[in-house]
Amino acid sequence: MFKDVSDLASCEVLIVDDSELMRKLLIGCLQDMCKVKTVESAEEAIQYCREDKPDLVLMDWVLEGMSGLDACKMMQATPELSEIPIVFVTSNANEESQLQCWEAGAVDFVPKPIVPKTLQNRVRTHLNYKIQADILRNYSFIDGLTGIYNRRFFDTEVARLLKQRHRVSHSLSTIMIDIDFFKKYNDHYGHLAGDDVLKQVATKLKDIVRRPLDSVCRYGGEEFVILLPDTPLQGARIIAKTLVRAIAGMQIEHTQSPHQFITISAGVASAAESCASVSSLMNSADKVLYEAKEAGRNTFKCAE
Ligand code: GH3
Ligand code: MG
Ligand code: MG
Repeated sequence: MFKDVSDLASCEVLIVDDSELMRKLLIGCLQDMCKVKTVESAEEAIQYCREDKPDLVLMDWVLEGMSGLDACKMMQATPELSEIPIVFVTSNANEESQLQCWEAGAVDFVPKPIVPKTLQNRVRTHLNYKIQADILRNYSFIDGLTGIYNRRFFDTEVARLLKQRHRVSHSLSTIMIDIDFFKKYNDHYGHLAGDDVLKQVATKLKDIVRRPLDSVCRYGGEEFVILLPDTPLQGARIIAKTLVRAIAGMQIEHTQSPHQFITISAGVASAAESCASVSSLMNSADKVLYEAKEAGRNTFKCAE
């Protein structure tokens, strides 16, 4: 699955240029090194990147419609696109343009007229960095957006805790959390505001769940999961209650929700005394989370 550091051939570079001549020239320079795709405008580039995550974008500075600079700024401000490095290809290499290019978040610029060897070496260097960054991100246990543990950590940790529990017969509780009416929040306030809410909610959950062995993880999308080792169901229920209240208490405006603020629903489950598999524990938590949703949201339910 991972790209090897030497394996540039599987990398993809997107060329954004409205001149056919320039596109052909750039393709000619790069096609022996990696895969190359081209589009003619910044709008198309953004669309392409959303669907097909290239490893590097070579962006023309002056384009019809949205400028390369604005496209770069926009991509940098969009979490799912901000990891794609952008290199400008520009004939304005004066100091002012260079500053603008760094401020927009570009990783480099290549001056026109193109010197093929220079372009190839710059692209090779940035692709190698990109491959290494991807490998690190993949091995990471931290969610890039919220800074809390990610799903990968959760999967490893819950399996470890359940296995350990067989030996010491301690309780293990889990709380599944889902933000209420979050699609409506995004639709009304925009995706960036939505991302900001995810960060605020994650920080709040982590502030409340503070014991060293506890872990707060982003399970995916707008879902979080909390692992509480050595905590019986009754203890977990109190924590769930505190969390649901605390998030509503932040009073983050959400006019599209009947509660008027951002709220969460939670499902609490404990691993049974004898044995429990990860899937049975998660299924129980998921089932009661659904019941909390059915009960009107901004509340929690506990599995028997
Ligand atoms: P419910 O109260 O039933 O949970 O409704 P909901 O709208 O929260 O649930 P649904 O599962 O229909 O929608 C989840 C939405 O969460 C979809 C998507 O817009 C949003 N979402 C998921 N991941 C992210 C993210 O990383 N950032 C942002 N901004 N939104 C996200
Ligand atoms: Mg959900
Ligand atoms: Mg939801």
